[in-house]
Amino acid sequence: MPECIFCQIVAGQTKTEFLYQDQDLVVFADISPKAPVHLLIVPCRHIKSINELESKDQALVGRIFLVARQMAQKTGVAESGYKLIFNVGRGGGQLVDHLHLHLLGGKRFKE
Ligand code: 5GP
Ligand code: ZN
Repeated sequence: MPECIFCQIVAGQTKTEFLYQDQDLVVFADISPKAPVHLLIVPCRHIKSINELESKDQALVGRIFLVARQMAQKTGVAESGYKLIFNVGRGGGQLVDHLHLHLLGGKRFKE
């Protein structure tokens, strides 16, 4: 079993339900939601963080944002507004070292 919790989730080794899944990406709800809608858009391949992205990942990064947009529409927050956040490294608040985009919505955020 991989050590990385998100690799375990991608591999279907946990009970995590996927809200979206294709060959490159999965989307699931954050286990500790910080907003009424709190999803994680996660590449299937283990990439540690934004710092480890390479130019060959350009299409994948684009797809992460397009899936985020699709999930915002699906969860009904596209019109009310939402936040997309990549935490990078411990100083940036990243606790899981497998690239993921947070999609947070359903409440009004302060600036
Ligand atoms: P980070 O701080 O690394 O940007 O965010 C990691 C996120 O993953 C946190 O919001 C945390 O609640 C979530 N998380 C950590 N472990 C699990 C898990 O096993 N399942 C799910 N669904 N979310 C997790
Ligand atoms: Zn991983």
